[in-house]
Amino acid sequence: MRAVGLHEDVIAVTSRAYATGCVLVRSGSEAFCVDSPIFPDELEILPAIADQAGFTVVGCLVTHADWDHLLGAYAFPEAPLGAGETTAARLISEPGDAQRRMRAFDDEFYVARPKPLSLPGSQQLPVPGHIEVGERSLELQPADGHTPDGMAIWVSWARVLIAGDYLSPVEIPMISRGGSVAAYMATLRRLEPLVEQAEHVVPGHGGPIDGVRAAAILREDLAYLEALASDGADAPLPLARRTAAQRSIHETNVTRR
Ligand SMILES: [Zn+2]
Repeated sequence: MRAVGLHEDVIAVTSRAYATGCVLVRSGSEAFCVDSPIFPDELEILPAIADQAGFTVVGCLVTHADWDHLLGAYAFPEAPLGAGETTAARLISEPGDAQRRMRAFDDEFYVARPKPLSLPGSQQLPVPGHIEVGERSLELQPADGHTPDGMAIWVSWARVLIAGDYLSPVEIPMISRGGSVAAYMATLRRLEPLVEQAEHVVPGHGGPIDGVRAAAILREDLAYLEALASDGADAPLPLARRTAAQRSIHETNVTRR
């Protein structure tokens, strides 16, 4: 796991699994943990990383309801969970889904956890909207299309965009069950002005990148999605993301366009 300070109030943590992004963001005496790393040892050390940096985590936030982003409670069991309305609704309508998917991952990679994943009812956050942290506030923007739910978080004073599963340098746009190409493209266009102002962007997978690189990925992803909508399987994949794993995501995308 890698931990990088992007700003005195922002630490980006990248999991060894799927390069999943987790962000600690602070103002004054309060901090949030946004999304999560995946392996038990990573979750175990996360409170010490926060502590050493002087971040007191008072809540966990999630960008969307996919299981690989929901494990913050292992690191901060006392912290209440905050989620956008669409994500809170999905957590309620898919009870046990995240637990089942996490168990399938754990079975495949022989991962043992100290206890089952508990997902207490989340506090619903209005999106678009704001949530206070210390003396500052985080800006919440809708980010659907990858899944039917989702939000991106703009940390204005640090110029960091926490994008959820968009703008990844390692993963092509993935249209999951309930997602849509049109909604995905609308999200990218909504995020574009924030990307242009961003010093750093933390995507759901692939580790933090600078704003210039994120803007280039945004253009590549829009081009891919336009081609996916019009040409289906023939749509060319972004140049740097043409591995077998990405082609397999592409094949699934073709069935969901
Ligand atoms: Zn994800």
